[in-house]
Amino acid sequence: MSADTQTIIEQLCLEKGLKMTGQRRIIARVLSESDDHPDVEMLHQRASALDDGISIATVYRTVRLFEESGILTRHDFGDGRSRYEEISDDHHDHLIDIDSGEVIEFTNEQIEKLQEEVARKLGFRLVDHRLELFGVRLDKGKSKQ
Ligand SMILES: [Zn+2]
Repeated sequence: MSADTQTIIEQLCLEKGLKMTGQRRIIARVLSESDDHPDVEMLHQRASALDDGISIATVYRTVRLFEESGILTRHDFGDGRSRYEEISDDHHDHLIDIDSGEVIEFTNEQIEKLQEEVARKLGFRLVDHRLELFGVRLDKGKSKQ
């Protein structure tokens, strides 16, 4: 990662008027580069690799601040741990492999349409939704692609 390019999270922080300290910037970068929905412990491990002065408490506070500022989405994929993901324009839903905990992102036009239809029939215009599917692999013997 190069030091002079700003991540989307950093840009959003600046737009929202958050002061970007060195540690916040590192946590923002780690979040931007993680596409695996990390929890605070995972974020702390990755941030520590870049700056071993970052405490888990700082990571907690920072992700909470980012979440409250609408920069991050928090997920609960059923294992009791909060997972974080950068907010993005391209909407997707999640399928969670309950054996491995792996999170697979997907989009499905039919599901999107169906949800809007359900909301409309109930007298609403849909502004947001969350969908989490939990499953086990059909063929556990096969290696993951
Ligand atoms: Zn996701």
